Parts: sequence; structure tokens; C-alpha cells
Amino acid sequence: MLFQPEQSYTKLSPLLASPCAPSPVAEPQWIAFNQALANQLEIPSAYHATEQGLQLYAGNQLPDWAQPHALAYAGHQFANFVPQLGDGRALLLTEVVNANQQRFDIQLKGAGRTPYSRGGDGRSAIGPVLREYLVSEAMHALNIPTTRALAAVATGEVVQRESAQPGAILTRVASSHLRVGTAQYVLGLKRYDLLKQFADYVIQRHYPSAAEAANPYLDLLNQVIDKQAQLIAKWMSVGFIHGVMNTDNMTLSGETIDYGPCAFMEAYNPAQKFSYIDRRGRYAYQNQPPIAMWNLARYAETLLPLLTETDNDTEQAIQVATAAIEGFESVYHGYYEQAMATKIGHGHKASEPVTQQLLERLLHLMQQQQVDFTLAFRYLGDTDSSRFIELFSQDTTSAKNWYQDWLASHNDSKLTVVKQAMNQVNPAVIPRNHRLEEVIQAAQNSGNLRPFNRFVQALQQPFEERQEFAEFMQPAKPSEQVTTTFC
Ligand code: AMP
Ligand code: MG
Ligand code: MG
Repeated sequence: MLFQPEQSYTKLSPLLASPCAPSPVAEPQWIAFNQALANQLEIPSAYHATEQGLQLYAGNQLPDWAQPHALAYAGHQFANFVPQLGDGRALLLTEVVNANQQRFDIQLKGAGRTPYSRGGDGRSAIGPVLREYLVSEAMHALNIPTTRALAAVATGEVVQRESAQPGAILTRVASSHLRVGTAQYVLGLKRYDLLKQFADYVIQRHYPSAAEAANPYLDLLNQVIDKQAQLIAKWMSVGFIHGVMNTDNMTLSGETIDYGPCAFMEAYNPAQKFSYIDRRGRYAYQNQPPIAMWNLARYAETLLPLLTETDNDTEQAIQVATAAIEGFESVYHGYYEQAMATKIGHGHKASEPVTQQLLERLLHLMQQQQVDFTLAFRYLGDTDSSRFIELFSQDTTSAKNWYQDWLASHNDSKLTVVKQAMNQVNPAVIPRNHRLEEVIQAAQNSGNLRPFNRFVQALQQPFEERQEFAEFMQPAKPSEQVTTTFC
């Protein structure tokens, strides 16, 4: 099959995207190229880790098939509506369709100013580029829907942040960059024809079965709700905190997007937050499900004019949409319950009281004793209980009691098989914040990419406990702890 670059979204209407060329950079240099992803997308080898590839991913020389556009979108940022945000530092190069007929966006992030840049410079510092590369690829390896990282290049230029930092550009791949905020932007255009065209586009691109439903737009809403519920349940089950769940950072495809101040929690704490700008913890760990529901309600608002046959039936449209949104809680709960039960080998009896009680007791002990979320579940899959019990050093007795009850809840003969399955969902290696910081500091301060490359490798197989990568399993020591993250 030939490489198929193809624009579809930017052809819908000039109101949705602005043509915009990347601004060339002084001296591009390779940081990383994701060969496996390039193969999956069937990118021609000329644009792999070659000089031509480097010039493309730096935005210096584009092939004919790239027709760069900045996409328009709106969004609620910390609950405040901003009618126009848009790609301020990102450019969609093209969509590509691979042999399996899957369509992807290829986007440069940090390639210069766009019509939506407002006061920003349209650039990225190397830190956020490495962070997004590592965390998005880690999420993929954890089987969590996410945008991907195809390439990272240094620009040879400096960007001014709190201090002067080396600039870089990330090439991001997504099944689309359509967001709840995109739908909000279209609603704001007050054009019924475009609103319908946009919804139909989302159906065709992401939820084709909705086209066959009795009420396609209600079916679309329900499918988006379902996808988001699955996604958030997966985040929760690995302790991922997105950090900035604004409606412009929530995709309609159900992929995780925008790795700014995100972090994985270490010690289990439902109220955990890291983001500096999230003063009040709106986007704290335990708030992620209700925030997702709030964002979905904003999405539902954009579908109201389409939900009933006649548009003067607003009352009925609101009722139908409200019922769908209220359904989020139970849909989410089902996915969360299943994911958590699977972590203790109870996937086959997720909603049974024994499972619920074991989980509740375990999480309570973990919270009380500030036990590392990732290691607790991982060590539970060990052949013996010693590493698990040691995590609960403040009160080993209750941990031992819990462990005995957990053992009793399983049929001994099958425990080896159960533990093997648990180790396929409970990662050994996650992108811990102090390691990310270390990697970024090395690259930023001395251009040393070795720690970055090692971390990329370690994160590729998160469910393997490999001796050579043992250091990546350990939580931060008190002196290494990162308590605050920045966009
Ligand atoms: P984010 O917080 O990354 O979701 O971004 C929110 C908005 O700010 C989006 O419209 C971004 O495109 C824009 N933005 C973020 N950083 C920059 C930058 N350096 N230059 C221009 N726009 C930016
Ligand atoms: Mg964003
Ligand atoms: Mg961001």
C-alpha cells in the first residue's frame, strides 16, 4: 500500500482552520525518531531518521503532501469559557490513511506562531517536548488510548521561558485533534449547517456506527461518553493525573491529549494534584471522573440543536442530552470497577462484595501508610508476599491480614496464572516525575540525551521487570520528590 496523505478536515470549511506555514529554525538536530510508529503509518523511508526527515520535522522544508493548517477551537479553561483558542503553537501537516484504513493526523508542535498564537511565541522548550514524548509513548505501552510521538527535533534556537531554554519541536500523531473545544467553537459560529457537518464528520471519522442509529447524534453522544468513561477509568487504574482537563484538552476520539503538567501519583492519595496552575485541585486525581462528566455536558450542549427533528424542541433535546450525561456515572463506574478488580486478579467477579471489600481495605491501607500505588499492585503479583508486605512498614500486621484474606479469595491452584495476568495490567515501570525531571535536566543543561534514550527503552515494556532498568521502578526518595509540575 502506498503512503496516503489526505486532507479531509481542513476541506470542511475555511472557518475551522487557517493555512499557516511553519517558521524555519536555525539548526535542526535529531532528538528522537519513532521507527515503529513510522512503520505503522507507512511513512516513506525518505522521511524517517534522514536529513529530509529532519528538515520536515523541523518545519524547514515541507513536501508537497504537507499542507499545514492551524485548527480553530474554543474551550473552557478551569471552567471559564474562551470562545477562541486554537492551535497557537501547533500545525496540522496532513492526515494519512494507512493500509488498515485508519486515519491519523500528523502535527508539528512548536513550529512557530499561528493566527491563534495570541501573545505566545508558538515555540516549545525542550523540556515539555521530552516530557510529552516519554509520557505519551508510556501511555501507549500501558494500553491507554493516547496521541503518539513520531519525532522530536531540537531547533538550535533558544526560547525564553522563566529562563532561556533550548527549543524543540514534537511531531504528534493522533487519530484526530478534534476536541470538545472544537465542537464548542463550531457552536459559537452559529451556523446550523456547519454544526451538522461537523457532527457528521466526527461520526464518519470516529463513530461510523452512529450513522445507522435511529438518532445518530444521540448515539454519537453516547459513544463519546462511553469512550471517555473507558479512558478515565484507565487513567485512574494506573494513577495518572492529567492536570489540565480543560475542554480543549479532551479529544472526541477518546485519546489522552496534551501532556503538560500531568503526573503519575506515587503514594496513594485520592486528593493528589501536582499542577502549579491548578491551585484549588479542580483536576486532582479523584476529581477526574466528575470533571470528565462536566466536560461531556459541554459537548452535549453543542449537539442540542441536532438532537430533535425540529429545532424548536429544545426542551426535549435538553432532556435527552441530560439523561445521556447522567448515564456517565454508571458507565464510568462499571469500567473503573472492572479495571480495579482486574488489578487484584478479581476481573471475573468485579462487582461481587468480596472484591469491593478487598479493594476498599487495600486502598485504605495504602492511603493511611502512603504506599506507592504502582508498586503495591505490582508486588502483589510476586510469587511471595515479602516485597508487598514491606511496602506497609508502618503496620505490617494489617497488610499481612489483608494479604491472607486476598489469598483466601483465590483458588490456590490457579494463583500462579492469576498473578501472571495481574502482571499484565499492573506496570512495573511508569514515567515517574523525578525521572522525567532528571532526563530533562540532562538534555537541557548539557545536551545529554542518554538518560532520555534509556527511559524511552524502559517505558516500552512497562509490564516487564527488567534488572537493567531496576532504577526506574523505584519511587522518588524524599530528596528527589517532585511535588509541583508546570505546563
Ligand atoms: P494548553 O495549555 O497547552 O492546552 O494550551 C492552551 C492554549 O494556549 C492553546 O490554544 C495553545 O495553542 C496555546 N499556547 C500554549 N503555548 C503556546 C505558545 N508557546 N505559543 C502560542 N500559543 C500557545
Ligand atoms: Mg491544549
Ligand atoms: Mg499544553
